[in-house]
Amino acid sequence: MISTTTVKLDPRKQLGFRLNLVLLCVLCFYLITTAYSICVLWQQAQEFKNLSNIHFERAIHAAELSRDAEQIASQALEKMIIQDYSNVYYQSLSNTPGKVFESIRSKLYANTPKEQAILNDIDDMTKPYFKTLKILDSYLLKEQNLALQQKFISKSLRNLQVAIPTGEDLAPQQQFFSNLFLKAINITVLVQNSTSRGELQRQKNNLSALMANMYYMNKLSPSQSSLLNDLQQTSEQAFSIRQRFQSQHLATLSAIRQTRQYAQRLSATSFDFYMLLKNATSKATQKHDALIRQVIINIVLFSIAFLVLTAFAYWFIQHYLIYRLHRLNSVMLKHVNGLIVPIPQTGSDEIAAMGKAFSIFVEATEVAKRTSIEARKEVENTNAKLIELNQSLQTLSHTDDLTQISNRRHFFQYLTSYWEKAILRNYDVSLIMIDLDWFKLFNDRYGHQAGDKCLFQVSQIFKDEVDHAKGMVARYGGEEFIVLLPNTKQYDALVFANQLSKKVKETNIIHEGSQKGRVTLSLGIASHNPKKGDDLDKLIQLADQALYQAKHNGRDQVSESVIILGSPPELS
Ligand code: GH3
Ligand code: MG
Ligand code: MG
Repeated sequence: MISTTTVKLDPRKQLGFRLNLVLLCVLCFYLITTAYSICVLWQQAQEFKNLSNIHFERAIHAAELSRDAEQIASQALEKMIIQDYSNVYYQSLSNTPGKVFESIRSKLYANTPKEQAILNDIDDMTKPYFKTLKILDSYLLKEQNLALQQKFISKSLRNLQVAIPTGEDLAPQQQFFSNLFLKAINITVLVQNSTSRGELQRQKNNLSALMANMYYMNKLSPSQSSLLNDLQQTSEQAFSIRQRFQSQHLATLSAIRQTRQYAQRLSATSFDFYMLLKNATSKATQKHDALIRQVIINIVLFSIAFLVLTAFAYWFIQHYLIYRLHRLNSVMLKHVNGLIVPIPQTGSDEIAAMGKAFSIFVEATEVAKRTSIEARKEVENTNAKLIELNQSLQTLSHTDDLTQISNRRHFFQYLTSYWEKAILRNYDVSLIMIDLDWFKLFNDRYGHQAGDKCLFQVSQIFKDEVDHAKGMVARYGGEEFIVLLPNTKQYDALVFANQLSKKVKETNIIHEGSQKGRVTLSLGIASHNPKKGDDLDKLIQLADQALYQAKHNGRDQVSESVIILGSPPELS
């Protein structure tokens, strides 16, 4: 039997471990590749984010451009509305918004023909827009100058108002002149604030009528005439300046409207550009996000598929290779250890072929073993037969044919060996010589076969009794028998001999030729405590002599040898 320890496998060198190692390597390679792909994807996303930030910046600039165009126009409008005509100095529109606008514009660039077209539109509108702004600025300056001139006129009017005499103590004519004069000054003040040409014309008519009244008054003093002339001159100037102011204001309003229009168009175009960029950026971002999402979903799906495939490969290797190899290995080991179990042979691959080959090998081994066992059994049977034959031969050589008890030769062998034992252990040896009485007559009367049967019957009685006494009986010759009683003194032998005689008599084998009417025995006993050098034949002779004595004394009796203990010299 092969010890299983000799075929114990190193776990790290097993096929299953190595195949799983290969699977693990493939899995690791996949994980590294996937991690690298995700890394690249992340980098791309970052780059795209930067790119979209740039586009978003452009969109912001476009929005700023739109806002600035509006803001500049609003500033111009505000300037006009809050124009302080009382201020001596005019503050022209700042150049800053224009510079800011230009600076933002310089940051904008086009990536597509559509973007370029819009940028061209913006550029086409920028020049006239700022030109209008300049015109508006010059118009406002002119308005400011005219307002300044109006201020001088107001001052002149205040001087004339101060110069005209007033009071209760004036003459009626003087008082009347002064009232008309003050009215004319008031109308001139109203002229300076008139907002429409119609109103200006009305005031002009009113003043002309008033001036005519004053000119046509009688007895105008030289100072009154002088004041009147001054008033005439000042009011004419006032009319002229106011008229120019109104015209200039209309021109300014027109410039403002144009500026607003340009600003709106510029703002709208810039806003379009902003929307275009914003939409393009958001569309690209959405597209990119969708792409990234799709790629990640694909990676996840592919990973799941790969893991499922790897798990399947692991299961396949375990189920179809490792498990079957282990099973085959275990079955082989069991067979090697003498345990007969079914050999797995299903399938049509190498493992199944190995199983089939091993099965053929086991079958061949079994056949060889069976043949060997059969051969051994045959040899054993032959040996047993030989032993039996030998024993039967031995038995035959030791047994008397007729009576089936020991023969004379076997008796001598046994007696010789016991004789030595008795010498060593200081046992008494008793012999009984037995002869059937008048047996010739038995044969003569009942036939030889009946004689044989009688001999067999008597011998079986002897055997039963002697076996009981652990002695030995043998046919000594003809109708004579001899009995060995081991470790038995002569007296006990005598008792035993009488018992034998009695048994035979009790059997009552009819023998009409005998004086006793049945088969009887004559028995001679001899006993001895043998010592080294004593002759056992002498003891047999003594028993024989005792038998002769029994015959001589009339048969059917037991006779003891006269030479008993204390007469060893007779034996030597
Ligand atoms: P005794 O009482 O003096 O012994 O008389 P006996 O007739 O028994 O003695 P004898 O010696 O004259 O005769 C022995 C006889 O025993 C002769 C023979 O026929 C018979 N005999 C011996 N061997 C056998 C045997 O094997 N079978 C049979 N049937 N008879 C035997
Ligand atoms: Mg005889
Ligand atoms: Mg006889």
